[in-house]
Amino acid sequence: TCGICVEKCPFDAIEIINLPTELDEDPVHRYGENAFALYGLPVPDAGTVTGILGPNGIGKSTAVHILADELVPNLGNYGDEPGWEPVLDRYRGSGLQNYIEALLDDEVTVARKPQYVDQIPKQFDGKTNELLAATDERGVLDELVDRLGIRPVIDQPIDTLSGGELQRVALAATLARDRDFYFLDEITPYLDIGQRVTAARLIQELAETEDRAILVVEHDLAILDLLADSLHIGYGRPGAFGVITDPKSVRNGINEYLKGYLTNENMRIRPDAITFEEHAPRETTKSAPLVEYPSLEKSYGEGEFSLGVEGGTIYHSEVLGIVGPNGIGKSTLAKLFAGELEPDTGELDFRLDIAYKPQYIEIDQPMRVDAFLSSITSDFGSSLWKTEIAGPLQLERIMEQNLSDLSGGERQRVAIAATLSEDADLYVLDEPSAHLDVEQRVRATTAIRRYAENHDATVMVIDHDIYMIDLLADRLMVFDGEPAVEGHAETPQEMREGMNDFLSDLDITFRRDERTGRPRINKPDSQLDRKQKKAGEYYYAP
Ligand code: ADP
Ligand code: ADP
Ligand code: MG
Repeated sequence: TCGICVEKCPFDAIEIINLPTELDEDPVHRYGENAFALYGLPVPDAGTVTGILGPNGIGKSTAVHILADELVPNLGNYGDEPGWEPVLDRYRGSGLQNYIEALLDDEVTVARKPQYVDQIPKQFDGKTNELLAATDERGVLDELVDRLGIRPVIDQPIDTLSGGELQRVALAATLARDRDFYFLDEITPYLDIGQRVTAARLIQELAETEDRAILVVEHDLAILDLLADSLHIGYGRPGAFGVITDPKSVRNGINEYLKGYLTNENMRIRPDAITFEEHAPRETTKSAPLVEYPSLEKSYGEGEFSLGVEGGTIYHSEVLGIVGPNGIGKSTLAKLFAGELEPDTGELDFRLDIAYKPQYIEIDQPMRVDAFLSSITSDFGSSLWKTEIAGPLQLERIMEQNLSDLSGGERQRVAIAATLSEDADLYVLDEPSAHLDVEQRVRATTAIRRYAENHDATVMVIDHDIYMIDLLADRLMVFDGEPAVEGHAETPQEMREGMNDFLSDLDITFRRDERTGRPRINKPDSQLDRKQKKAGEYYYAP
Protein backbone atom coordinates (compact mmCIF):
# COMPACT_ATOMS: atom_id res chain seq x y z
CA THR A 1 0.00 0.00 0.00
CA CYS A 2 1.15 3.53 -0.69
CA GLY A 3 -0.54 5.11 2.32
CA ILE A 4 -3.14 7.00 0.34
CA CYS A 5 -5.43 4.13 -0.45
CA VAL A 6 -4.89 2.39 2.87
CA GLU A 7 -5.51 -1.04 1.52
CA LYS A 8 -4.93 -2.75 -1.78
CA CYS A 9 -3.80 -0.41 -4.54
CA PRO A 10 -6.68 0.11 -7.00
CA PHE A 11 -4.32 1.45 -9.63
CA ASP A 12 -2.41 -1.00 -11.71
CA ALA A 13 0.69 1.07 -11.57
CA ILE A 14 1.35 3.81 -9.09
CA GLU A 15 4.55 5.61 -8.49
CA ILE A 16 5.57 4.74 -4.96
CA ILE A 17 6.76 7.91 -3.38
CA ASN A 18 7.37 9.30 0.06
CA LEU A 19 3.76 9.06 1.24
CA PRO A 20 2.68 9.48 4.87
CA THR A 21 4.13 6.97 7.27
CA GLU A 22 3.72 6.97 11.01
CA LEU A 23 6.19 9.30 12.73
CA ASP A 24 9.11 8.13 14.86
CA GLU A 25 8.36 10.39 17.81
CA ASP A 26 5.86 9.64 20.61
CA PRO A 27 2.29 10.54 19.74
CA VAL A 28 0.24 13.00 21.78
CA HIS A 29 -2.31 10.29 22.29
CA ARG A 30 -2.83 6.69 21.36
CA TYR A 31 -6.19 5.06 22.04
CA GLY A 32 -4.72 1.61 22.64
CA GLU A 33 -2.48 -1.05 21.25
CA ASN A 34 -2.57 -0.86 17.44
CA ALA A 35 -5.27 1.79 17.80
CA PHE A 36 -5.41 5.26 16.33
CA ALA A 37 -2.55 7.60 17.28
CA LEU A 38 -2.52 11.39 17.07
CA TYR A 39 0.68 13.37 16.50
CA GLY A 40 0.65 17.11 17.11
CA LEU A 41 -2.00 19.46 18.39
CA PRO A 42 -3.50 22.65 17.02
CA VAL A 43 -2.68 25.82 18.94
CA PRO A 44 -5.70 27.90 19.98
CA ASP A 45 -4.76 31.56 20.16
CA ALA A 46 -6.87 34.42 21.52
CA GLY A 47 -7.84 36.92 18.83
CA THR A 48 -7.23 34.57 15.93
CA VAL A 49 -9.05 32.06 13.80
CA THR A 50 -6.97 28.91 13.43
CA GLY A 51 -7.91 26.54 10.64
CA ILE A 52 -7.38 22.81 10.30
CA LEU A 53 -7.30 21.37 6.81
CA GLY A 54 -7.28 17.66 6.23
CA PRO A 55 -9.37 14.56 5.67
CA ASN A 56 -11.80 13.12 8.19
CA GLY A 57 -10.55 10.35 10.47
CA ILE A 58 -7.12 11.86 11.19
CA GLY A 59 -7.85 12.96 14.74
CA LYS A 60 -9.31 16.45 14.56
CA SER A 61 -12.07 15.65 17.05
CA THR A 62 -9.59 13.81 19.25
CA ALA A 63 -7.45 16.96 19.34
CA VAL A 64 -10.44 19.05 20.33
CA HIS A 65 -11.42 16.62 23.10
CA ILE A 66 -7.92 17.14 24.44
CA LEU A 67 -8.05 20.93 24.18
CA ALA A 68 -11.47 20.94 25.86
CA ASP A 69 -10.05 18.90 28.77
CA GLU A 70 -12.39 15.98 28.05
CA LEU A 71 -9.54 13.64 27.21
CA VAL A 72 -6.21 13.67 29.03
CA PRO A 73 -3.60 12.73 26.43
CA ASN A 74 -1.40 9.76 27.31
CA LEU A 75 1.63 10.64 25.15
CA GLY A 76 1.43 7.16 23.71
CA ASN A 77 1.55 5.32 27.07
CA TYR A 78 -1.92 3.90 26.77
CA GLY A 79 -1.42 1.45 29.62
CA ASP A 80 -0.73 4.14 32.23
CA GLU A 81 -3.05 6.51 34.04
CA PRO A 82 -2.60 9.74 32.06
CA GLY A 83 -1.96 13.10 33.70
CA TRP A 84 -1.55 16.68 32.47
CA GLU A 85 1.84 17.31 34.12
CA PRO A 86 3.94 15.30 31.63
CA VAL A 87 1.93 16.90 28.82
CA LEU A 88 2.75 20.35 30.16
CA ASP A 89 6.43 19.36 30.39
CA ARG A 90 6.41 18.27 26.79
CA TYR A 91 4.83 21.51 25.55
CA ARG A 92 6.80 23.88 27.80
CA GLY A 93 8.24 26.67 25.70
CA SER A 94 5.87 25.94 22.82
CA GLY A 95 2.81 27.86 21.68
CA LEU A 96 0.63 25.49 23.69
CA GLN A 97 2.22 26.11 27.11
CA ASN A 98 -0.05 29.03 28.07
CA TYR A 99 -3.13 27.25 26.86
CA ILE A 100 -2.39 24.07 28.82
CA GLU A 101 -1.62 26.07 31.95
CA ALA A 102 -4.95 27.86 31.69
CA LEU A 103 -6.65 24.52 31.09
CA LEU A 104 -5.09 23.14 34.29
CA ASP A 105 -6.36 26.17 36.21
CA ASP A 106 -9.87 25.51 34.87
CA GLU A 107 -9.79 28.85 33.14
CA VAL A 108 -10.77 27.72 29.66
CA THR A 109 -14.41 27.52 28.68
CA VAL A 110 -15.43 25.99 25.37
CA ALA A 111 -18.26 26.35 22.87
CA ARG A 112 -18.62 23.89 20.07
CA LYS A 113 -20.53 23.52 16.82
CA PRO A 114 -20.96 19.87 15.87
CA GLN A 115 -20.06 18.55 12.44
CA TYR A 116 -23.35 16.81 11.67
CA VAL A 117 -26.09 19.40 12.05
CA ASP A 118 -28.65 16.87 10.77
CA GLN A 119 -28.43 15.22 14.19
CA ILE A 120 -29.64 18.32 16.05
CA PRO A 121 -33.38 17.50 15.75
CA LYS A 122 -32.66 14.13 17.38
CA GLN A 123 -31.14 15.88 20.40
CA PHE A 124 -33.46 18.86 20.71
CA ASP A 125 -37.21 18.80 20.65
CA GLY A 126 -38.66 22.31 20.39
CA LYS A 127 -38.67 25.47 18.35
CA THR A 128 -35.75 27.44 16.96
CA ASN A 129 -36.23 30.32 19.40
CA GLU A 130 -36.31 27.90 22.35
CA LEU A 131 -33.02 26.36 21.30
CA LEU A 132 -31.40 29.74 20.73
CA ALA A 133 -32.73 31.47 23.88
CA ALA A 134 -30.54 29.31 26.13
CA THR A 135 -27.39 30.31 24.22
CA ASP A 136 -27.53 34.10 24.31
CA GLU A 137 -24.62 34.63 26.69
CA ARG A 138 -23.20 37.65 24.86
CA GLY A 139 -26.49 39.46 24.22
CA VAL A 140 -25.92 39.37 20.45
CA LEU A 141 -28.43 36.75 19.44
CA ASP A 142 -30.80 39.11 17.65
CA GLU A 143 -28.02 40.41 15.47
CA LEU A 144 -26.81 36.89 14.68
CA VAL A 145 -30.32 35.76 13.78
CA ASP A 146 -30.71 38.64 11.35
CA ARG A 147 -27.31 38.40 9.75
CA LEU A 148 -27.59 34.64 9.32
CA GLY A 149 -31.07 35.05 7.85
CA ILE A 150 -32.86 32.68 10.24
CA ARG A 151 -35.58 35.11 11.38
CA PRO A 152 -38.12 33.41 9.04
CA VAL A 153 -37.75 30.07 10.86
CA ILE A 154 -37.51 31.39 14.42
CA ASP A 155 -40.94 30.04 15.45
CA GLN A 156 -40.61 26.77 13.54
CA PRO A 157 -40.04 23.41 15.25
CA ILE A 158 -36.38 22.38 14.84
CA ASP A 159 -37.34 19.12 13.15
CA THR A 160 -38.93 21.05 10.24
CA LEU A 161 -35.75 22.98 9.33
CA SER A 162 -33.72 22.28 6.19
CA GLY A 163 -30.02 21.40 6.41
CA GLY A 164 -29.00 24.96 5.53
CA GLU A 165 -31.30 26.41 8.17
CA LEU A 166 -30.01 23.98 10.81
CA GLN A 167 -26.42 24.89 9.95
CA ARG A 168 -27.12 28.59 10.46
CA VAL A 169 -29.06 27.99 13.68
CA ALA A 170 -26.15 25.90 14.99
CA LEU A 171 -23.70 28.67 14.07
CA ALA A 172 -25.84 31.28 15.86
CA ALA A 173 -26.15 29.02 18.91
CA THR A 174 -22.37 28.59 19.12
CA LEU A 175 -21.30 32.15 18.35
CA ALA A 176 -23.82 33.59 20.84
CA ARG A 177 -21.95 31.91 23.71
CA ASP A 178 -19.48 33.78 25.91
CA ARG A 179 -16.51 31.39 25.98
CA ASP A 180 -12.74 31.49 25.60
CA PHE A 181 -12.35 28.80 22.97
CA TYR A 182 -14.75 28.08 20.13
CA PHE A 183 -14.48 24.98 18.03
CA LEU A 184 -16.42 24.86 14.78
CA ASP A 185 -16.38 21.53 13.00
CA GLU A 186 -17.22 22.60 9.41
CA ILE A 187 -19.25 25.71 8.78
CA THR A 188 -20.25 25.39 5.11
CA PRO A 189 -22.29 22.19 4.65
CA TYR A 190 -25.69 23.00 3.08
CA LEU A 191 -24.87 26.71 2.76
CA ASP A 192 -24.64 28.67 -0.48
CA ILE A 193 -21.68 30.93 -1.16
CA GLY A 194 -23.30 34.09 0.18
CA GLN A 195 -24.20 32.30 3.42
CA ARG A 196 -20.69 30.83 3.66
CA VAL A 197 -19.10 34.25 3.37
CA THR A 198 -21.47 35.70 6.00
CA ALA A 199 -20.62 32.88 8.42
CA ALA A 200 -16.90 33.47 7.83
CA ARG A 201 -17.24 37.20 8.57
CA LEU A 202 -19.18 36.60 11.81
CA ILE A 203 -16.49 34.21 13.03
CA GLN A 204 -13.68 36.63 12.20
CA GLU A 205 -15.48 39.45 13.99
CA LEU A 206 -15.85 37.34 17.13
CA ALA A 207 -12.13 36.53 17.16
CA GLU A 208 -10.99 40.06 16.43
CA THR A 209 -13.35 42.25 18.39
CA GLU A 210 -13.86 39.96 21.40
CA ASP A 211 -10.36 38.47 21.44
CA ARG A 212 -11.50 34.85 21.40
CA ALA A 213 -9.62 31.76 20.24
CA ILE A 214 -11.43 30.01 17.40
CA LEU A 215 -10.53 26.71 15.78
CA VAL A 216 -12.28 25.78 12.53
CA VAL A 217 -12.21 22.58 10.50
CA GLU A 218 -13.29 23.38 6.97
CA HIS A 219 -13.20 21.58 3.61
CA ASP A 220 -14.17 24.49 1.34
CA LEU A 221 -10.76 25.91 0.48
CA ALA A 222 -11.95 29.33 -0.71
CA ILE A 223 -13.82 29.88 2.56
CA LEU A 224 -11.03 28.49 4.73
CA ASP A 225 -8.65 30.87 2.98
CA LEU A 226 -10.96 33.81 3.68
CA LEU A 227 -11.63 32.83 7.27
CA ALA A 228 -8.43 31.64 8.92
CA ASP A 229 -5.43 33.60 10.22
CA SER A 230 -3.21 30.55 10.47
CA LEU A 231 -3.53 26.95 9.36
CA HIS A 232 -2.60 23.48 10.51
CA ILE A 233 -2.53 20.78 7.87
CA GLY A 234 -3.74 17.38 8.99
CA TYR A 235 -2.57 14.28 7.18
CA GLY A 236 -2.02 10.62 7.87
CA ARG A 237 -4.00 7.47 7.29
CA PRO A 238 -7.61 7.91 8.28
CA GLY A 239 -8.39 5.52 11.11
CA ALA A 240 -4.73 4.57 11.69
CA PHE A 241 -2.82 7.70 12.56
CA GLY A 242 -3.01 11.44 12.08
CA VAL A 243 -0.50 14.26 12.18
CA ILE A 244 -1.47 17.86 12.86
CA THR A 245 1.39 20.03 11.59
CA ASP A 246 2.76 23.14 13.25
CA PRO A 247 0.84 26.23 12.17
CA LYS A 248 1.56 27.66 8.73
CA SER A 249 0.43 30.85 7.07
CA VAL A 250 -2.94 30.20 5.46
CA ARG A 251 -1.68 31.08 2.02
CA ASN A 252 1.31 28.81 2.29
CA GLY A 253 -0.63 26.00 3.94
CA ILE A 254 -3.28 25.87 1.22
CA ASN A 255 -0.67 26.16 -1.53
CA GLU A 256 1.32 23.26 -0.06
CA TYR A 257 -1.85 21.25 0.39
CA LEU A 258 -2.80 21.75 -3.27
CA LYS A 259 0.72 21.00 -4.39
CA GLY A 260 0.50 17.75 -2.43
CA TYR A 261 3.81 18.35 -0.67
CA LEU A 262 4.48 19.83 2.79
CA THR A 263 7.84 21.56 2.69
CA ASN A 264 8.79 21.82 6.39
CA GLU A 265 7.63 18.31 7.06
CA ASN A 266 9.21 16.94 3.88
CA MET A 267 6.05 14.97 3.33
CA ARG A 268 4.21 14.14 0.15
CA ILE A 269 0.49 13.82 0.85
CA ARG A 270 -0.80 13.29 -2.70
CA PRO A 271 0.84 12.11 -5.94
CA ASP A 272 -0.39 15.03 -8.11
CA ALA A 273 -0.64 18.77 -7.72
CA ILE A 274 -3.95 20.59 -8.23
CA THR A 275 -3.58 23.63 -10.49
CA PHE A 276 -5.93 26.45 -11.43
CA GLU A 277 -6.25 28.39 -14.67
CA GLU A 278 -5.54 32.04 -14.05
CA HIS A 279 -7.28 33.14 -17.21
CA ALA A 280 -10.70 32.09 -18.36
CA PRO A 281 -10.53 29.34 -20.95
CA ARG A 282 -10.45 30.99 -24.35
CA GLU A 283 -13.63 30.84 -26.35
CA THR A 284 -12.89 27.59 -28.10
CA THR A 285 -14.53 26.41 -31.26
CA LYS A 286 -17.48 24.57 -29.90
CA SER A 287 -18.30 20.98 -30.62
CA ALA A 288 -21.70 20.02 -31.99
CA PRO A 289 -24.72 20.85 -29.83
CA LEU A 290 -25.90 17.97 -27.67
CA VAL A 291 -29.22 19.64 -26.85
CA GLU A 292 -30.87 22.90 -27.71
CA TYR A 293 -33.62 23.59 -25.23
CA PRO A 294 -36.33 26.25 -25.36
CA SER A 295 -37.39 28.61 -22.59
CA LEU A 296 -39.14 26.70 -19.84
CA GLU A 297 -41.33 27.46 -16.87
CA LYS A 298 -42.11 25.36 -13.86
CA SER A 299 -43.97 26.24 -10.69
CA TYR A 300 -44.98 24.26 -7.66
CA GLY A 301 -48.66 24.70 -6.88
CA GLU A 302 -50.52 27.99 -6.69
CA GLY A 303 -48.38 30.94 -5.57
CA GLU A 304 -45.49 28.72 -4.50
CA PHE A 305 -42.02 28.78 -6.05
CA SER A 306 -41.76 29.40 -9.78
CA LEU A 307 -38.76 28.92 -12.05
CA GLY A 308 -38.11 30.51 -15.43
CA VAL A 309 -35.40 29.00 -17.60
CA GLU A 310 -33.93 30.93 -20.51
CA GLY A 311 -33.44 28.68 -23.52
CA GLY A 312 -29.95 27.63 -24.49
CA THR A 313 -27.57 25.06 -25.91
CA ILE A 314 -25.48 22.42 -24.21
CA TYR A 315 -22.55 21.29 -26.33
CA HIS A 316 -21.28 17.80 -26.75
CA SER A 317 -18.53 16.87 -24.27
CA GLU A 318 -18.55 20.06 -22.23
CA VAL A 319 -18.80 20.36 -18.46
CA LEU A 320 -21.40 22.94 -17.56
CA GLY A 321 -21.13 24.40 -14.06
CA ILE A 322 -24.35 25.57 -12.40
CA VAL A 323 -24.26 28.14 -9.62
CA GLY A 324 -26.71 30.20 -7.59
CA PRO A 325 -28.10 30.67 -4.10
CA ASN A 326 -30.07 28.04 -2.22
CA GLY A 327 -33.79 27.80 -2.94
CA ILE A 328 -33.47 29.34 -6.42
CA GLY A 329 -34.45 26.30 -8.53
CA LYS A 330 -31.17 24.56 -9.40
CA SER A 331 -32.38 21.13 -8.31
CA THR A 332 -35.71 21.78 -10.01
CA LEU A 333 -33.84 22.37 -13.28
CA ALA A 334 -31.81 19.18 -12.77
CA LYS A 335 -35.07 17.25 -12.32
CA LEU A 336 -36.54 18.82 -15.47
CA PHE A 337 -33.50 17.70 -17.47
CA ALA A 338 -33.51 14.28 -15.85
CA GLY A 339 -37.15 13.83 -16.80
CA GLU A 340 -38.33 13.60 -13.22
CA LEU A 341 -40.45 16.72 -13.58
CA GLU A 342 -42.42 18.06 -16.54
CA PRO A 343 -42.22 21.78 -17.36
CA ASP A 344 -45.50 23.76 -17.31
CA THR A 345 -44.55 25.61 -20.47
CA GLY A 346 -41.91 24.71 -23.01
CA GLU A 347 -41.05 21.24 -24.05
CA LEU A 348 -37.99 19.08 -23.48
CA ASP A 349 -38.44 16.67 -26.33
CA PHE A 350 -34.87 15.41 -26.57
CA ARG A 351 -34.26 11.70 -26.45
CA LEU A 352 -31.15 11.46 -24.35
CA ASP A 353 -29.98 8.87 -21.91
CA ILE A 354 -29.44 10.84 -18.75
CA ALA A 355 -27.54 9.73 -15.66
CA TYR A 356 -28.65 11.79 -12.67
CA LYS A 357 -27.25 12.11 -9.17
CA PRO A 358 -29.84 13.93 -7.10
CA GLN A 359 -28.88 16.30 -4.27
CA TYR A 360 -30.56 14.12 -1.68
CA ILE A 361 -29.44 10.57 -2.27
CA GLU A 362 -31.83 7.75 -1.59
CA ILE A 363 -30.00 4.50 -2.11
CA ASP A 364 -30.53 2.68 1.14
CA GLN A 365 -31.71 -0.65 -0.18
CA PRO A 366 -30.52 -3.65 1.83
CA MET A 367 -27.82 -4.37 -0.74
CA ARG A 368 -24.06 -4.37 -0.67
CA VAL A 369 -22.12 -1.62 -2.44
CA ASP A 370 -20.43 -4.10 -4.81
CA ALA A 371 -23.75 -5.74 -5.72
CA PHE A 372 -25.34 -2.35 -6.32
CA LEU A 373 -22.52 -1.07 -8.54
CA SER A 374 -22.22 -4.30 -10.51
CA SER A 375 -25.97 -4.08 -11.23
CA ILE A 376 -25.31 -0.74 -12.93
CA THR A 377 -22.34 -1.52 -15.12
CA SER A 378 -20.81 -4.60 -16.66
CA ASP A 379 -17.48 -2.77 -16.40
CA PHE A 380 -17.60 -3.26 -12.64
CA GLY A 381 -14.28 -4.65 -11.47
CA SER A 382 -12.43 -4.02 -14.74
CA SER A 383 -9.08 -2.33 -14.37
CA LEU A 384 -10.26 0.75 -16.27
CA TRP A 385 -13.31 1.07 -14.02
CA LYS A 386 -11.11 0.73 -10.96
CA THR A 387 -8.64 3.31 -12.21
CA GLU A 388 -11.29 5.80 -13.28
CA ILE A 389 -13.96 5.33 -10.64
CA ALA A 390 -13.35 3.00 -7.70
CA GLY A 391 -9.80 4.23 -7.03
CA PRO A 392 -10.31 7.98 -6.93
CA LEU A 393 -13.65 7.64 -5.13
CA GLN A 394 -12.04 5.31 -2.57
CA LEU A 395 -14.65 2.59 -2.83
CA GLU A 396 -12.39 -0.40 -2.16
CA ARG A 397 -12.80 -0.16 1.57
CA ILE A 398 -16.61 0.03 1.52
CA MET A 399 -17.43 -2.48 -1.24
CA GLU A 400 -18.68 -5.06 1.24
CA GLN A 401 -20.80 -2.71 3.29
CA ASN A 402 -24.54 -2.39 3.00
CA LEU A 403 -25.87 0.73 1.32
CA SER A 404 -28.04 1.39 4.36
CA ASP A 405 -25.01 1.50 6.69
CA LEU A 406 -23.05 4.12 4.75
CA SER A 407 -22.15 7.53 6.16
CA GLY A 408 -23.08 10.69 4.24
CA GLY A 409 -19.68 10.95 2.56
CA GLU A 410 -19.60 7.24 1.65
CA ARG A 411 -23.09 7.44 0.19
CA GLN A 412 -22.09 10.49 -1.86
CA ARG A 413 -19.06 8.67 -3.29
CA VAL A 414 -21.12 5.59 -4.16
CA ALA A 415 -23.76 7.79 -5.80
CA ILE A 416 -21.15 9.66 -7.88
CA ALA A 417 -19.63 6.32 -8.89
CA ALA A 418 -23.03 4.89 -9.81
CA THR A 419 -23.87 7.93 -11.95
CA LEU A 420 -20.53 7.95 -13.79
CA SER A 421 -20.78 4.18 -14.31
CA GLU A 422 -23.91 4.56 -16.39
CA ASP A 423 -23.61 4.75 -20.14
CA ALA A 424 -25.34 8.07 -20.79
CA ASP A 425 -25.41 11.05 -23.13
CA LEU A 426 -25.66 13.55 -20.30
CA TYR A 427 -24.53 13.30 -16.67
CA VAL A 428 -26.25 15.57 -14.16
CA LEU A 429 -24.57 15.86 -10.75
CA ASP A 430 -26.43 17.84 -8.08
CA GLU A 431 -24.01 18.98 -5.32
CA PRO A 432 -21.35 16.27 -5.53
CA SER A 433 -19.14 18.01 -2.91
CA ALA A 434 -21.73 17.65 -0.13
CA HIS A 435 -20.47 15.54 2.83
CA LEU A 436 -17.04 15.07 1.27
CA ASP A 437 -13.89 16.10 3.10
CA VAL A 438 -11.28 18.15 1.31
CA GLU A 439 -9.26 15.17 0.13
CA GLN A 440 -12.35 13.41 -1.21
CA ARG A 441 -13.42 16.60 -3.02
CA VAL A 442 -10.06 16.89 -4.71
CA ARG A 443 -10.24 13.27 -5.84
CA ALA A 444 -13.89 13.41 -6.90
CA THR A 445 -13.21 16.57 -8.89
CA THR A 446 -10.29 14.94 -10.67
CA ALA A 447 -12.33 11.79 -11.32
CA ILE A 448 -15.28 13.67 -12.82
CA ARG A 449 -13.03 15.84 -15.00
CA ARG A 450 -10.97 12.88 -16.25
CA TYR A 451 -14.07 10.82 -16.87
CA ALA A 452 -15.59 13.64 -18.94
CA GLU A 453 -12.38 13.98 -20.98
CA ASN A 454 -11.77 10.28 -21.53
CA HIS A 455 -15.35 9.51 -22.54
CA ASP A 456 -16.23 12.78 -24.31
CA ALA A 457 -19.03 12.93 -21.77
CA THR A 458 -21.28 15.92 -21.31
CA VAL A 459 -21.74 16.83 -17.66
CA MET A 460 -23.82 19.35 -15.71
CA VAL A 461 -22.50 20.01 -12.20
CA ILE A 462 -24.37 22.03 -9.56
CA ASP A 463 -22.12 23.01 -6.65
CA HIS A 464 -21.35 25.72 -4.09
CA ASP A 465 -17.64 24.92 -3.80
CA ILE A 466 -16.12 27.55 -6.08
CA TYR A 467 -12.80 25.68 -6.43
CA MET A 468 -14.65 22.58 -7.55
CA ILE A 469 -16.64 24.58 -10.11
CA ASP A 470 -13.49 26.33 -11.30
CA LEU A 471 -11.63 23.04 -11.77
CA LEU A 472 -14.54 21.31 -13.47
CA ALA A 473 -16.49 23.71 -15.61
CA ASP A 474 -15.98 24.81 -19.21
CA ARG A 475 -19.00 27.13 -19.11
CA LEU A 476 -21.39 28.37 -16.48
CA MET A 477 -25.14 28.62 -15.96
CA VAL A 478 -26.06 31.26 -13.40
CA PHE A 479 -29.28 31.41 -11.38
CA ASP A 480 -30.69 34.53 -9.80
CA GLY A 481 -34.03 35.70 -8.41
CA GLU A 482 -35.56 35.57 -4.96
CA PRO A 483 -34.94 32.31 -3.08
CA ALA A 484 -38.09 30.30 -2.30
CA VAL A 485 -40.19 32.75 -4.38
CA GLU A 486 -38.96 32.86 -7.95
CA GLY A 487 -35.84 31.79 -9.75
CA HIS A 488 -34.36 32.54 -13.15
CA ALA A 489 -31.83 30.38 -14.96
CA GLU A 490 -29.74 32.24 -17.50
CA THR A 491 -28.54 30.70 -20.71
CA PRO A 492 -25.09 29.06 -20.35
CA GLN A 493 -22.23 31.57 -20.63
CA GLU A 494 -18.46 31.54 -21.02
CA MET A 495 -16.64 31.21 -17.68
CA ARG A 496 -15.55 34.85 -17.49
CA GLU A 497 -19.00 36.30 -18.19
CA GLY A 498 -20.66 33.71 -15.99
CA MET A 499 -18.39 34.31 -13.00
CA ASN A 500 -18.79 38.09 -13.37
CA ASP A 501 -22.52 37.71 -13.50
CA PHE A 502 -22.66 35.41 -10.48
CA LEU A 503 -20.12 37.19 -8.28
CA SER A 504 -21.43 40.69 -8.98
CA ASP A 505 -24.76 39.58 -7.47
CA LEU A 506 -22.82 38.43 -4.40
CA ASP A 507 -20.55 41.50 -4.40
CA ILE A 508 -17.45 39.29 -4.05
CA THR A 509 -14.22 39.57 -6.06
CA PHE A 510 -11.30 37.14 -6.27
CA ARG A 511 -7.62 37.94 -6.69
CA ARG A 512 -4.97 35.41 -7.71
CA ASP A 513 -2.31 33.94 -5.54
CA GLU A 514 0.92 35.17 -7.11
CA ARG A 515 2.71 31.85 -6.95
CA THR A 516 0.03 29.38 -7.88
CA GLY A 517 -2.74 31.32 -9.65
CA ARG A 518 -5.18 30.00 -7.06
CA PRO A 519 -8.27 32.22 -6.66
CA ARG A 520 -8.58 34.01 -3.29
CA ILE A 521 -11.52 36.08 -2.05
CA ASN A 522 -10.64 39.79 -1.73
CA LYS A 523 -11.29 41.72 1.46
CA PRO A 524 -14.38 43.84 0.83
CA ASP A 525 -13.43 47.40 -0.09
CA SER A 526 -9.74 46.58 -0.36
CA GLN A 527 -7.87 48.30 -3.16
CA LEU A 528 -8.07 45.25 -5.42
CA ASP A 529 -11.73 44.70 -4.61
CA ARG A 530 -12.59 48.25 -5.66
CA LYS A 531 -10.40 48.14 -8.73
CA GLN A 532 -11.84 44.85 -9.96
CA LYS A 533 -15.42 45.91 -9.36
CA LYS A 534 -14.80 49.07 -11.35
CA ALA A 535 -13.34 47.04 -14.19
CA GLY A 536 -16.15 44.49 -13.94
CA GLU A 537 -13.64 41.65 -13.47
CA TYR A 538 -14.80 39.62 -10.48
CA TYR A 539 -12.91 36.39 -11.01
CA TYR A 540 -10.34 36.16 -13.79
CA ALA A 541 -7.32 38.38 -14.07
CA PRO A 542 -8.07 41.19 -16.51
P1 ADP B 1 -11.58 13.37 12.79
O1 ADP B 1 -12.21 14.34 13.74
O2 ADP B 1 -10.35 13.89 12.12
O3 ADP B 1 -12.56 12.81 11.79
P2 ADP B 1 -11.44 11.62 15.11
O4 ADP B 1 -10.58 12.30 16.12
O5 ADP B 1 -12.90 11.67 15.30
O6 ADP B 1 -11.04 12.12 13.65
O7 ADP B 1 -11.01 10.09 15.02
C1 ADP B 1 -9.72 9.66 14.64
C2 ADP B 1 -9.63 8.15 14.78
O8 ADP B 1 -9.65 7.82 16.18
C3 ADP B 1 -10.80 7.39 14.16
O9 ADP B 1 -10.28 6.31 13.45
C4 ADP B 1 -11.61 6.91 15.34
O10 ADP B 1 -12.20 5.68 15.02
C5 ADP B 1 -10.54 6.75 16.41
N1 ADP B 1 -11.13 6.92 17.75
C6 ADP B 1 -11.88 7.96 18.18
N2 ADP B 1 -12.25 7.79 19.47
C7 ADP B 1 -11.72 6.60 19.85
C8 ADP B 1 -11.74 5.85 21.08
N3 ADP B 1 -12.37 6.31 22.17
N4 ADP B 1 -11.09 4.66 21.09
C9 ADP B 1 -10.44 4.20 20.01
N5 ADP B 1 -10.38 4.85 18.83
C10 ADP B 1 -11.01 6.04 18.75
P1 ADP C 1 -32.03 24.86 -5.14
O1 ADP C 1 -31.63 23.52 -5.68
O2 ADP C 1 -31.55 26.01 -5.98
O3 ADP C 1 -31.67 25.05 -3.69
P2 ADP C 1 -34.76 23.83 -5.45
O4 ADP C 1 -34.98 23.66 -6.91
O5 ADP C 1 -34.49 22.64 -4.64
O6 ADP C 1 -33.64 24.96 -5.22
O7 ADP C 1 -36.03 24.55 -4.82
C1 ADP C 1 -36.50 25.84 -5.24
C2 ADP C 1 -37.71 26.21 -4.40
O8 ADP C 1 -38.78 25.32 -4.70
C3 ADP C 1 -37.50 26.11 -2.89
O9 ADP C 1 -38.17 27.18 -2.26
C4 ADP C 1 -38.14 24.78 -2.53
O10 ADP C 1 -38.60 24.82 -1.20
C5 ADP C 1 -39.29 24.72 -3.52
N1 ADP C 1 -39.66 23.33 -3.84
C6 ADP C 1 -38.81 22.36 -4.27
N2 ADP C 1 -39.49 21.22 -4.51
C7 ADP C 1 -40.79 21.47 -4.23
C8 ADP C 1 -42.00 20.70 -4.29
N3 ADP C 1 -41.98 19.41 -4.68
N4 ADP C 1 -43.15 21.30 -3.91
C9 ADP C 1 -43.17 22.60 -3.52
N5 ADP C 1 -42.08 23.37 -3.46
C10 ADP C 1 -40.90 22.84 -3.81
MG1 MG D 1 -30.58 22.03 -4.76
